[in-house]
Amino acid sequence: MKQNPIYVTQPYLPPLEEFTPYLEQIWANKTLTNGGPFHQQLEQALAEYLGVPHVALFSNGTLALITALQALRVTGEVITTPYSFVATAHSLLWHNCKPVFVDVEPNTLNIDPAKIEAAITPQTTAIMPVHCYGNPCDTAAIQKIADNYNLRVIYDAAHAFGVQDAGGSILRHGDLSVLSFHATKVFNTFEGGAIICPDAKTKTRIDQLKNFGIVDETTVVAPGINAKMSEINAAFGLLQLKHMPQVLTRRSEIDARYRAQLAGVKGIRCLPQGGQTAANFSYFPVLVQPDYPLSRDALYDKLKEQGIYARRYFYPLITDFPMYRGLPSAARANLIVAAKAAEQVLCLPIYPSLMDEQQGRVVQFVAEAQA
Ligand SMILES: *Cc1c(COP(=O)(O)O)cnc(C)c1O
Repeated sequence: MKQNPIYVTQPYLPPLEEFTPYLEQIWANKTLTNGGPFHQQLEQALAEYLGVPHVALFSNGTLALITALQALRVTGEVITTPYSFVATAHSLLWHNCKPVFVDVEPNTLNIDPAKIEAAITPQTTAIMPVHCYGNPCDTAAIQKIADNYNLRVIYDAAHAFGVQDAGGSILRHGDLSVLSFHATKVFNTFEGGAIICPDAKTKTRIDQLKNFGIVDETTVVAPGINAKMSEINAAFGLLQLKHMPQVLTRRSEIDARYRAQLAGVKGIRCLPQGGQTAANFSYFPVLVQPDYPLSRDALYDKLKEQGIYARRYFYPLITDFPMYRGLPSAARANLIVAAKAAEQVLCLPIYPSLMDEQQGRVVQFVAEAQA
């Protein structure tokens, strides 16, 4: 019997009838975008939910990253990680900066702070780390380097919605943090994103930059972009936010089951959590090690034959793409840990509507696969 396909993720969709009242309000007040009532409400609600001072909503995370660079007037070279979604480095090229890639550390697969200093040159103005899979970076070590060398820090926190460390939201670290609300993320607005702002002045500047640099009817102060979130996306975000507790509960159950049931499988190593006090269970990466009977790619292919669509996040490395591979910092010898992770990692399906029976099939197949 052909089973239903199991994807690595499925967007969480609240019951459709719960969205109708929001649509009726939009139809009634005829405000579709430009910072309307749902946009304002979602910024407020997210600041409260996340425990951060200010939130500036965006139409997507990539434009939010580019705008963060513009807001901080970042120029020259920016130190970043090769082990991420390609948008991280692309944002630097869009802002005419040169990415300088630094290797990751094996436990979190986040940028290795011990290797950052060697990559700093007189042209370096910023660091763009990624909280990969929602595991916090070593924010204290990164900030220390940034302070010593007078560098800005912009966190690509696209995976880190709701993640906390002992001091509170991890989005408070650095100069700015950027979220993505793309359909594949833990919290989604179909497409969307945000910049976490430390103060009202920064938020005002960022709000101008996402609206063409417009200050008022007759004043334009910067070559800003159009990156505003529409009312329909903001309304969906408000509804989605109401469902976050159950979304996270279900994700944490799936995470715990994988960890328990894969613990004894030879050659499969679940990536440990990175010491956060609140996780978001956004991904479930495992490392397929040499003592597993199959290569990572063979396992990936065999799962696919079964209708189980695991994903190799992040393979290839960003530094393997043609617009980056010529950079000196993209050399394999500079990125040993990242290159190994890219060859071994497989993200298993995790999303609220994944049923126990489906997860059971995934586990059974991974546990019993033979060459
Ligand atoms: C999803 C993602 C982005 C891009 O966000 P969009 O909202 O899709 O533009 C950037 N960085 C990382 C690490 C991501 O996972």
